[in-house]
Amino acid sequence: MAVTLFSWGYWGWGNATDRLIEAVDAAEQARGFDPPVFVDTRLRRQGRAKGFVGDAFRDLVGELRYRHLQELGNEEIATGGTGVRIKNPAAVVKLLELAVNAAGENRRVIFYCACEFPKLHGDLACHRLTITELLLNHAKSVGKAVTVIEWPGGQPNQTRLKVDRKLFAGLMNGARKSIPFNRERLPEFAGLPWASLAVIESEEGASGHVLVGPARFATSKSHDGYWYLPVLGTDESIDSVVTTEALTKRAERWRLDHGLNAQESR
Ligand SMILES: [Zn+2]
Repeated sequence: MAVTLFSWGYWGWGNATDRLIEAVDAAEQARGFDPPVFVDTRLRRQGRAKGFVGDAFRDLVGELRYRHLQELGNEEIATGGTGVRIKNPAAVVKLLELAVNAAGENRRVIFYCACEFPKLHGDLACHRLTITELLLNHAKSVGKAVTVIEWPGGQPNQTRLKVDRKLFAGLMNGARKSIPFNRERLPEFAGLPWASLAVIESEEGASGHVLVGPARFATSKSHDGYWYLPVLGTDESIDSVVTTEALTKRAERWRLDHGLNAQESR
């Protein structure tokens, strides 16, 4: 049986880890899986994202759903370098073991660090890509079928949202970069593949399209926070007459540029 692992970056979730767990578990439940196991692959568990400092995240999800594989951390972090040097590459054996054991419990593994995407600006790459490569090579050598894909996985699909006139205008002219939604749609939106096409309908019956990513949660001191879909930034201005075909091409390129596609051990 093939085993799927997710890679993931917690960028933007540091102040909303309880909501993150709510979203992740809802997405997996909707797909028929039990809550996933998180594997922390940071060399150092520090930073500004308070929900991920030290044992904070382990304490939230519980010991059974958390492992720190510090050996898979990037040693360049310690020396201030920008390259990737995995502390102990052989530790991917442990990562595969964790994924196989989790599969036996109908769970999947999400291994993570802080970086927003596997591919960053310019030539910079997150060490998750190196872990993926090492893991797939190891899986191949032991004859195990493994797939690694950036959370929440899947291929871009399509969804629909109704919005008010003001939000519609903001989305169409590119000023608004988020689409608030109701909690009841969380199971669907938490697992929405990166660069999916959102058909936006206004109260007046106008419609348009934007590319979106999976659910996020906005926190603030002045309100309780809200769920939203992030609208993907592009280097082109959003054109309301853009065809869905052009958007589908844009989605493919966006996923490639950010390193979001599935990789397999075969
Ligand atoms: Zn990283």
